[in-house]
Amino acid sequence: MTTMQIKRALVRVDIQNGFMPLDPGIPGTGELPVEGAPAIVAAVNALSRSPFFDLVVDTQDYHPADHGSFYTMHPGKSANEVVDLFGLSQILWNPHCRQNTPGCEFYPTLDRSRVAKVIQKGTDKTVDSYSGFWDNGKRKSTGLADYLVSEGVTHVYVVGVTRPFCPSWTAIDSAEAGFKTFLVVDACSLLELAPGAGETDLLALRGKQVEIVSSSDILGQTA
Ligand SMILES: [Zn+2]
Repeated sequence: MTTMQIKRALVRVDIQNGFMPLDPGIPGTGELPVEGAPAIVAAVNALSRSPFFDLVVDTQDYHPADHGSFYTMHPGKSANEVVDLFGLSQILWNPHCRQNTPGCEFYPTLDRSRVAKVIQKGTDKTVDSYSGFWDNGKRKSTGLADYLVSEGVTHVYVVGVTRPFCPSWTAIDSAEAGFKTFLVVDACSLLELAPGAGETDLLALRGKQVEIVSSSDILGQTA
C-alpha cells in the first residue's frame, strides 16, 4: 500500500523593487508602486522560514526595456489604458522590472535564504505574463509546473505582489496544473483599479478551486 506524500511549495510572486512605493534608500523602487506591498514582506518571510514548506520558489518579472506592456511603447497612450497587444487585451503599465536594472531586483528585506529556484517571466516583449506558469496567451510555459512536478510538489501556496494580477493568475494556473492550491491572502498586496476588484478576485479564485487562507492558519499549525 502506498500513501501519497504531501509536499508543499511556497511560490512568492514578484516581490521586487519595481513594485514598491518610492523609497529613496532603495534604487528601483517607485516604478510601478503598489501601496501596501512592503507590508506583506514580514508575513512572507515568516512563511518562508516555516518548516511547513518543503520548497520556496520566487517568480521574477523580468522585462526587456521595450516590453509591450509599457505605456511608453504606445505613443499617445497613458498608464492604465487598455490596448490590443498582438491579439490580447493589455492594461498599459509604467515601465517596471526591466532586465539588469535595480527595479527587477528582489526587495532587500525579503528573506531569500531558502529560495531553491527563480522563475523569470515577462521576457517576451510581445506578451505580458501575470502568471508564474504561463504568459497571458498561454503561448509559452515558464517551466514552473514541470519544476514543481520534478520536485514532487503536491500543494502550492501563493503569496506576493499584486492581486488581482500576478498572484491570482499564478494560483489559478497552479490549480489548473493539478496542484492543490492555496492563496495566502494577507501575504498578497492588492491593487484595485476598480472598486470591489479585490472581492471579485477572491470569488474568481474560489470558483477555480483555489482555497483562500491566511498566514496565521498556516503558522498556527507549526507553532
Ligand atoms: Zn510586468
